[in-house]
Amino acid sequence: MAMDKKVIEDLKKQLLHEKEDLENNLSKIARPINQKEGDYETNFDEIGSDREDNAAEVEQYSENISIETTLEKRLQNIIDALERIEKGAYGICEKCSKEIDLERLKVNPSAKTCISCN
Ligand SMILES: [Zn+2]
Repeated sequence: MAMDKKVIEDLKKQLLHEKEDLENNLSKIARPINQKEGDYETNFDEIGSDREDNAAEVEQYSENISIETTLEKRLQNIIDALERIEKGAYGICEKCSKEIDLERLKVNPSAKTCISCN
């Protein structure tokens, strides 16, 4: 059973919306290295030059790196899902090749695996 085109369109819209949100949030703390692949590098903001400033810079930077890593991972999952839609391979579990339950996709449109393989 192939997935309904209309359903895929809706999920695609959801994915594009999430992608935009993630890109907006990423642009606040990082700059894109390869936007198409969702590859970003965390900005290092200069606060000042004395020791306290430097410590604050490093602290802020490491905090931003961890946020950036999380957002980047989510963005890359979404880009993957959009690619699978283009290839007509969307909604197939990457482990067992069975169809992923639609309800699961509605909650998480970038899911790569079915519930049993999760
Ligand atoms: Zn599976």
